[in-house]
Amino acid sequence: MYEKHRIRKYGFHGTSHRYIAQRAAVILERPLEELKLITCHLGNGCSVTAIDRGVSVDTSMGLTPLEGLMMGTRCGSIDPAIVIYMIETLGMTAAEAENMMNQQSGLLGVSGLSNDLRDIRAAAEAEHERAMLAYEMYSNSVKRYIGQYVFTMAGVDAIVLTAGVGENCDRMRRMIFAGLEPVGIVLDQDKNLLRGFERIISDDESRVKVIVIPTNEELMIVQDVITLLAK
Ligand code: AMP
Repeated sequence: MYEKHRIRKYGFHGTSHRYIAQRAAVILERPLEELKLITCHLGNGCSVTAIDRGVSVDTSMGLTPLEGLMMGTRCGSIDPAIVIYMIETLGMTAAEAENMMNQQSGLLGVSGLSNDLRDIRAAAEAEHERAMLAYEMYSNSVKRYIGQYVFTMAGVDAIVLTAGVGENCDRMRRMIFAGLEPVGIVLDQDKNLLRGFERIISDDESRVKVIVIPTNEELMIVQDVITLLAK
């Protein structure tokens, strides 16, 4: 498939992952080339990247942005046989299946309410069952990738969060990192409530740092243009 049709993994959100990795190195006061980082871009689209000493060694999105984490309206990775079932047994067209997986799934599909986590949070706090399930599935999907990438890199110095959900939702961050104390990841629950600026939100004793960094893809693009023009 690759040799004939160039089917391959691309990954997406690279500009954002690169920006927050560089900022994390500044915040940690260590060279990027020494750090093992897991960067999580959690917005309406979501992806996680393992950055081993400055090099991206794995990322959750694939040929298209559909692979990987559960997202606002995308299902993320599911059993590929489901797609065949949708087409062969349910009689959906390929376009309908594609639309369902990209536009009607994820937080929206599971909650049945909205792709916006603010709406789902309000509903979950009112004990809406599918809203609570959506929160749990989303946080679990991030947790699983973080676990996978810790093993991919044989360790991690810091986990960095960005984008709409990563920057703003203390409840989701609390759920993602809940119970990870035995593997050296401990949130400072007060710092987790702060908003709007770069900050370390892990406890001082946490072996792995957890950092929230508002992404700035525009600045990264400007810096790249300047570098290219200088060449
Ligand atoms: P982005 O794609 O980075 O613009 O992220 C957009 C998403 O971030 C929205 O659809 C919301 O789900 C989420 N979001 C933004 N602000 C908040 C907030 N205060 N609490 C929870 N989720 C938020």
